Amino acid sequence: MAEVLVVVEATQAFGVKKVTLELLTIARELGEPSAVVLGGPGAVAKLQDKLAEYGAQKIYAAESEEIDGHLVAPKATVLANLVKSVSPAAVLLASSQEGKEIAGRLAVKLENGILADAVGLDADGTATQVVFAGQTIVKSKVTKGIPLVTLRPNSVNPTPAPASPAVENLTVEVTDADKLAKVTNRVAEQKGSRPELTEASIVVSGGRGVGSGDNFKLVEELADLLGAAVGASRAAVDSGFYPHQFQVGQTGKTVSPQLYVALGISGAIQHRAGMQTSKAIVAVNKDEEAPIFELTDFGVVGDLFKVVPQAAEEIRKR
Ligand code: FAD
Repeated sequence: MAEVLVVVEATQAFGVKKVTLELLTIARELGEPSAVVLGGPGAVAKLQDKLAEYGAQKIYAAESEEIDGHLVAPKATVLANLVKSVSPAAVLLASSQEGKEIAGRLAVKLENGILADAVGLDADGTATQVVFAGQTIVKSKVTKGIPLVTLRPNSVNPTPAPASPAVENLTVEVTDADKLAKVTNRVAEQKGSRPELTEASIVVSGGRGVGSGDNFKLVEELADLLGAAVGASRAAVDSGFYPHQFQVGQTGKTVSPQLYVALGISGAIQHRAGMQTSKAIVAVNKDEEAPIFELTDFGVVGDLFKVVPQAAEEIRKR
């Protein structure tokens, strides 16, 4: 069976990211998944068990200070050398900022086609992308070189398939050009009680209609009842209601949860750009003409300060 490379993403606080487990699940449809860990010394040891649990048949380990201490360029170089030596059936990466940058650099190095932001991938390598505010579904295939595909989080449910992968150490050879951008400071992620925004299965977001930072407690309360992450529109962020790291949209984060709940958000095109591939969309807005209702599976025309407490009460009863 052909080998499929899955580029692993992980954080100090959370370990292997859920999106990597999803990629391993999808990779099993295309061939034999091999996980590629590109990190600092000792990175593999912390991730190995999880990668094995989700079906990695092999783990390629590129552990070096040069990878850890610089931005993505060394990772792309190491990966390009690996791809040239093993000729995999496909290379799968997360549609994260880092995943897309590595994929782009890799495509240039290999003179290879690339598909970004897929929300599904068939066994024959056909990727599904959603464009124009969710109104058009595009099916495409890489026709030049090895398929490089970045997939959005929550494209599939990650399912375990225990394996016993061997670890193969890679030689890390990076160029001076790869070392131009250096990591100077790291801010440790806080392991909070809520899921990470881009990985959450449910996201509850508040917009300008929430009215104030204090009122965002209502958004947080509903999110906590649903086990969801909290998001915000840019207007809410610019008004100082919620921190920028939670902004969803064109200039914020892209989310693709099973359920997206928009509270007091009008549904501007720039907001849609970050949430339109959500599997189900629910909105509460007092304006029945609000464009968000063009996207919703379930829309409530009403005052969020009345609707949300009622919804929360119902959820608490269950
Ligand atoms: P508004 O458009 O002001 O809508 C508030 C909504 O709340 C209204 O529909 C109103 O009916 C409703 N409302 C008010 N009170 C209540 C109530 N009590 N109960 C129920 N509903 C109520 N925006 C993003 O979100 N993310 C981005 O990444 C982003 N990037 C941008 C990039 C560029 C280059 C530009 C130009 C704009 C960008 N924007 C982005 C801004 C975007 O155009 C909108 O201005 C923004 O999304 C509006 O946010 P909002 O829906 O919260 O606010």
